[in-house]
Amino acid sequence: MRSCFFRYIRAVLPFLFAVLTSTDLIAAPLDNSSNMPIRIGVLAYRGPDETGTSWSELPARLAKAIPGYRFEMREMSGTELSDAVEQSDLEFVLTNSSQYVLLAAAFGIKRIATVMLPETLSQEQAIGSTVLTLADRHDLNQFADLRGKRIASVANDAFGGYLAAAREFLGAGIDLEAGDVEMVYVGFPMRNAINALRTGTADAAIVRTCLLEQLAAKGVLQPAEFKLVSPRPISGFRCASSTPLYPDWPMAAARGVDQHLAKQVAMALLSMPASPGGLTWDIPADYQSVSALYRDLMIGPYVDLRTTTFRGLLKAYRPHVLISLFLLVATVIYMIWLIRRHTTELRAARAQTRELQKEAEHMARLSILGEMAGTLAHELNQPLTTIATFAQGLERRCAAGPVDPAMVAEANREIVAQTERAANVIRRVRAFTRKRMAVRECKPIVNTVEESIDLFSNLLPDLPEITLDNRLPMGAEIEADHLQLQELLLNLMKNAADAMRELPATDREISIVLAQEEGSISIAVADHGPAVSAETIAHLFEPFFTTKPDGMGLGLSICRSIAEAHGGRLDVAPRSPPPGLVFRINLPADSCHGKRPASSHSRR
Ligand code: ADP
Repeated sequence: MRSCFFRYIRAVLPFLFAVLTSTDLIAAPLDNSSNMPIRIGVLAYRGPDETGTSWSELPARLAKAIPGYRFEMREMSGTELSDAVEQSDLEFVLTNSSQYVLLAAAFGIKRIATVMLPETLSQEQAIGSTVLTLADRHDLNQFADLRGKRIASVANDAFGGYLAAAREFLGAGIDLEAGDVEMVYVGFPMRNAINALRTGTADAAIVRTCLLEQLAAKGVLQPAEFKLVSPRPISGFRCASSTPLYPDWPMAAARGVDQHLAKQVAMALLSMPASPGGLTWDIPADYQSVSALYRDLMIGPYVDLRTTTFRGLLKAYRPHVLISLFLLVATVIYMIWLIRRHTTELRAARAQTRELQKEAEHMARLSILGEMAGTLAHELNQPLTTIATFAQGLERRCAAGPVDPAMVAEANREIVAQTERAANVIRRVRAFTRKRMAVRECKPIVNTVEESIDLFSNLLPDLPEITLDNRLPMGAEIEADHLQLQELLLNLMKNAADAMRELPATDREISIVLAQEEGSISIAVADHGPAVSAETIAHLFEPFFTTKPDGMGLGLSICRSIAEAHGGRLDVAPRSPPPGLVFRINLPADSCHGKRPASSHSRR
């Protein structure tokens, strides 16, 4: 039985050995030690000088934690690292947060752990920018003070040394890329930027947070030499900062790397003891804030925003936008100038038109007066004759003997009364012909019409019958230049009388009707003159249209302009029943309010 067992063992053992050695059941499931090393590309920015961080021990530590694998660190520039990821030459990538966001967007690398340094506040709050200037630069306190100044930085793709600050500068209205400042790029190590400040090559320097404190701890500089631009206190963070904090470097697995291996590396990092510099690893941070920074700066994956957003367009086409704005402003100024000039010219033209109109009205008044000269002579002749008669009578009585004083007083009273009558006629004529500025007043329109009829009755011999029918509400007033309205009415009455000159005296009648219409007061002046053709009617208001041998043809056009100047109108229509014409003036009714009794009378 025993010999049988040993025989069995002797037969099975070689087989078992062969199986175990050939299927990796003893070693790690993915033992790769015999093949290629696991390549970790590391961004060669961070020198061990300031941070005290060195990646050189990481391969050995990983190899120890994951037996059977050989790890190899490859220090690379940003471009080399990116090329290597693109060509699948790396299994893992260790880089700063900004390049991680770029490579994640472009090649799908996935973070598996995030670096935590002793000063790190949390996974998402680890690194930012410190913007420094010399302590005696009292003129430089805020980002905005650095417009047009020289600013030192290692390179424009450094995260703490440039990008984190660039976002805050942009928020303060300063675009570091667009020439708002003069950038002085000094290259690594980052302390070069501080040196540029000290030597006067730059007015300010952008460095990553905690560099100042680390250099001070080494005695390289005295913090009192410098001051912070736009300090941004972050509670619990022991370094000075001018910006918010962002996550630190991640370790990321390249696309296509075995998931099991990636998990093993992540676990190895998380359980790794702190490095001599105090560096540990934590679960991967959220790099959303870094993506937001790229979006705000419109770089990396968001570079397209430069040509698709308003701000981007503004940035990309700044000179064009400025020229266009300049042209726009110049055009607007030119338009304003043109409008002003036009307005001034228009005002001058209006003033001239007013002056001409005043002149024409004056001429028309003189013309009416000229036509009425006969009547005027008659008007004046009557009182003068009476005065002469009384004076001669007195003379005769005196020559004949003693005179009764009562009779002398009576004759004297009559002479004074007639003198007054003559003076009145002259006063009215002078008032009528005087050149005057328009004077608007509220007055019952019926009064104006009655005064016009009175004046017309005094001026014209052989007067037609004039009837006035006032259908207006009591005391209807309008705000107008009533003297101008008088002139308008005189003109219409005179034309009506002219039109009826050939008719027998009994048939001559001018009827005036005052009525309230919707929103207006109308004054209709109708006559019984001969029928007028529609074609003639169409020309009546044209200046210089006249059918009278001694006419000027200005009366009706002036009448219409007077009506229009009062916001009203003047129209003509055949009288119904014919013959004759009706001239109707419409004036706005809402200018004044008042009460006056209605009246109706007729005179000859
Ligand atoms: P004038 O009286 O100097 O001719 P107007 O402009 O006052 O100038 O009148 C122009 C013309 O209109 C008159 O010559 C006349 O032919 C015509 N007209 C005006 N009023 C009447 C009217 N009531 N009846 C007929 N024709 C008229």
